[in-house]
Amino acid sequence: AYRQMPNNYQFYSANMNSQLQERLALESKLRYALQRNELVLYYQPRVDTTTGKIVSVEALLRWQNPELGLVSPAKFIPIAEANGSIVPIGEWVIRTACTQNRLWQESLSQSLRVAVNLSARQLAQLNLVERIASILNETQLNPAYLELEVTESLMMENLEQSIRVLEELRELGVKLALDDFGTGYSSLNYLRRFPIHTLKIDRSFVRDVVSNSHDGAVTNAIITLAKSLDLNITAEGVETQEQCEYVKAQGCHEIQGYYFSPPIPTLAMTALLKKSEKV
Ligand code: C2E
Ligand code: CA
Ligand code: CA
Ligand code: CA
Repeated sequence: AYRQMPNNYQFYSANMNSQLQERLALESKLRYALQRNELVLYYQPRVDTTTGKIVSVEALLRWQNPELGLVSPAKFIPIAEANGSIVPIGEWVIRTACTQNRLWQESLSQSLRVAVNLSARQLAQLNLVERIASILNETQLNPAYLELEVTESLMMENLEQSIRVLEELRELGVKLALDDFGTGYSSLNYLRRFPIHTLKIDRSFVRDVVSNSHDGAVTNAIITLAKSLDLNITAEGVETQEQCEYVKAQGCHEIQGYYFSPPIPTLAMTALLKKSEKV
C-alpha cells in the first residue's frame, strides 16, 4: 500500500521528517542552554517623544549556541513554550533584567523601566506573582521600574485568570504593557478591564502609517482610544524619521524601533545610556 502512495506524499513526509528532526535537535540543545550560560539578553531603548531621552529598555532574549550560532527567539521560544522550559528560562530573564536595571540605577543619574516579555506558560504559573515578588526583593529593584509585556492573544487564552494575575502584579507595583496591540482579537471590550499602563501599537500599523491612509486611520483610532483610557502609548517598529514624526504628532508618548536603535548587547546599551544622559 505504501508504494501506491502518490510521490508528493512521500516528498511531503520526508520534508516533515526533516523539520521534525531539526526541531528535536534544537530542543535537545535548548535543554542545556540555561545551565551552560548560552542565553543572553539584548536591550532595545524606548525613547520619550517629547524629551528624546531613553525612558525604558525592553529585554529581548537571544540564544548563543556554539554549533548553531545566534538563534532568534522566534525559533526557540515556541519550543521552550511547548516543553515548559520557558518557565525557568523566563524566570532567568526577569532576574537578569532586574539585576541589570539595578546596576544601571547605580551608575546613571536617571532611573529606567526595564520591560520583560511574559509567555502564556508563565502567566498560567500558579506562583508567578510570588516568584516575581521574590526576584524584586532579591535584586532590590523598585517594582515600578519593572514592566511586564503581555499580548492580547495571551490574555484571551484564559481571560478571567489572566486579569486576576495582572491585578495582583499591579498591586505589587510593577508596570504592565499590552504588546503587539491591534494584531490579536482587538478585544476593545476587554481593553478597559486590563489593568495596564502601556499600550504598544504593533509595528505592522506603524510600518505604513505615512503611505497607507488605512493604517494611518487605524493607528489614529488606537491612539485616541488609548488616550481616553489614560494609557501610556508606545509605537513599535519605528524605522524612519517620517514614522517617528507621524506617531509623535498623533500623541504617542514613546517610540521603539531601528530608527533610534536595534536591540543591542548589555555593554553597548550601557554606553548608549551614558551618552544619552549627557544630551
Ligand atoms: P516583541 O516582544 O514584539 O519584540 C519586538 C521585536 O521587534 C524584536 O524581535 C525586535 O528586535 C523587533 N524590532 C524592534 N524594532 C524593530 C524595527 O524597527 N523594525 C523591525 N522590523 N523589527 C523591530 P526579536 O528580538 O527577534 O523578538 C521576537 C519576539 O520574541 C518578541 O517580539 C517576543 O514576542 C519574543 N521574545 C523575545 N524575548 C523574549 C523573552 O524573554 N520571553 C518571551 N516569552 N518572549 C520573548
Ligand atoms: Ca515585547
Ligand atoms: Ca511587540
Ligand atoms: Ca511580537
